[in-house]
Amino acid sequence: MTNLKKTGLVFDIQSFSVHDGPGIRTLIFLKGCPLRCLWCANPEGQKLFPEVRYHVMKCVGCLACAEVCPHGAITLFSEACREGKKQPKICIDREKCAKCLGLECVAACPNGALQLTGKLMTVEEVVKAVKRDLPFYRGKGGVTLSGGDPVYQPKFAIELLQACKEEYVNTAIESAMFAKREKIEKFLPVTDLFLTDIKHMNSKKHKELTGVPNELILKNIALTARYKPVLVRVPIIPGSNDDDKNMAATAAFCLEYGITRINILPYHKLGVSKYEQLGMEYLQEEIETPDDDKMEHIKEIMEDMGVTCIIN
Ligand code: SF4
Ligand code: SF4
Repeated sequence: MTNLKKTGLVFDIQSFSVHDGPGIRTLIFLKGCPLRCLWCANPEGQKLFPEVRYHVMKCVGCLACAEVCPHGAITLFSEACREGKKQPKICIDREKCAKCLGLECVAACPNGALQLTGKLMTVEEVVKAVKRDLPFYRGKGGVTLSGGDPVYQPKFAIELLQACKEEYVNTAIESAMFAKREKIEKFLPVTDLFLTDIKHMNSKKHKELTGVPNELILKNIALTARYKPVLVRVPIIPGSNDDDKNMAATAAFCLEYGITRINILPYHKLGVSKYEQLGMEYLQEEIETPDDDKMEHIKEIMEDMGVTCIIN
């Protein structure tokens, strides 16, 4: 019996996605991820607690937020606390802020300059949102749990997937697969499709790029592919993982475990502004999006190896 009252930390729900599984899908973004990919486009999904996003352009410096903050985390801006390039009006001490559940500052701001990212929701509340999209699935679409990484909130994610199954909704998860084998195994009965990335085949390089080695990830992909469809995606990060040798090794690994389709995704900078809003540093400023020729070249390498390669 599904526990509809189980709660999890959700930071977004998006309808009408067509890139994250079959058909039209509802994406549920869960907070918390064990990786720290240098190019992460959803940095608001990394930490397993609610955070405040600060929109400099909307702030008038009235300090209403500072007055209500019970932890003294907000002060008038000084050069010593500058985050990023823009000239903010306030400084937010992210360490003091990290465990605040009150978030009084967000409600106090008259201009919407402070935004909460991460909200506790029950399985029931999320399923209610999913049910609104049911007519659009047309027997093909469904729900994809993303993040962050849904495997980082396993109990909530599994209850949610189970509840979707009870509504005959197709289920998918987007996971980095950096988790104990037993944890991944619990997802198998309630997940129709696993979407995962291979960021680098060399473990040392993988650790440099994401903060963790790749052995566990590759083992989990191999295990999962024995039981369920797995779609492997490769983010193409110029100068980091886009060399021919790594691309061929990725295709060879997938073929070995019966995965015959790989999606390649060109690096982009769509998430960069969020870093500044969250007081985080973006370390990939210099890297440019790979051009069409490069993407076609990688597709050719993959297809020569025998996989179907789609450029997303
Ligand atoms: S989230 Fe909490 S600690 Fe952080 S600034 Fe707002 S009220 Fe203060
Ligand atoms: S964030 Fe909002 S409440 Fe705080 S100083 Fe800026 S405008 Fe005022």
